[in-house]
Amino acid sequence: MIRAKKKFGQNFLKDESILEKIVQAMPKDDKKIVEIGPGLGDLTKRLLLHCESVTAFEIDLELCGYLRDAFSNEIENEQLELICEDILKSWSESSLYEDRYHIVANLPYYIATNLILKALDDSKCESILVMVQKEVALKFASKVGDKTFSALSILRDSISEAEILFDVGSECFDPPPKVVSSVLKLTKFSNYLDEGSKKGIFQDKKELNRFKSFLKVAFCAPRKTLKKNLGQIAKKDDLARYFEDLEIPENFRPHQLKSDKYHLLFKKIK
Ligand code: SAM
Repeated sequence: MIRAKKKFGQNFLKDESILEKIVQAMPKDDKKIVEIGPGLGDLTKRLLLHCESVTAFEIDLELCGYLRDAFSNEIENEQLELICEDILKSWSESSLYEDRYHIVANLPYYIATNLILKALDDSKCESILVMVQKEVALKFASKVGDKTFSALSILRDSISEAEILFDVGSECFDPPPKVVSSVLKLTKFSNYLDEGSKKGIFQDKKELNRFKSFLKVAFCAPRKTLKKNLGQIAKKDDLARYFEDLEIPENFRPHQLKSDKYHLLFKKIK
């Protein structure tokens, strides 16, 4: 019997109806599915019934041995590619996979935020359907004015739509995690990167990275006013003019400004 290892964030999803609901929410096209952390393969088995091919990354060598046996046919006929590696190492390059792909996974919670940020950054990744800790789902999906609206939410809002599909109680896992989980779906906008079309939200990756740095400054002291925070990168007089032009109240805190206004402010400041 394989025991769950805490250090790899192993909580195996055992509830059949939840597994089926995740698979039903998958994008309906024939693009490659990438699964991060197949574990004992319960989700993998269902993914293989619904899509042409899956590439799965698993860090735990004991689980890899188990998966190789359990899915020997699918591996042999190349429907399943099993990569026994730390996903963070495989993702050190800009793209995880050469073709366009979707992620479907019950993520290891200890690196979930990091993995979602990597997926948002990877232009080959078109959508992300993942089980995460509820707080993480809320952080990504929050809207302007929410207490949890942050630099991360604005970045997500600039790149993809977000939907929290449903919550999942700890009793659905073995062993049960100490937190409530949620299934989060992020669908990327087709035009968030310009790539020569002149219609994108960002001209290129460099501009996207500059926007990230801008957001870091805007939220450097979340309880101070946005104007004060931005004083680090723009002159006081210029800021006063930009705020007036864009009709942004001087006393706004960073979480009170909508993403589209952030984009306009960014254009003025850069
Ligand atoms: N997909 C399975 C399920 O739904 O039951 C397992 C999910 S479990 C929450 C997370 C899985 O991710 C485990 O199999 C764990 O070994 C794997 N994992 C943890 N860290 C990883 C990493 N850095 N790279 C690849 N896999 C990782």
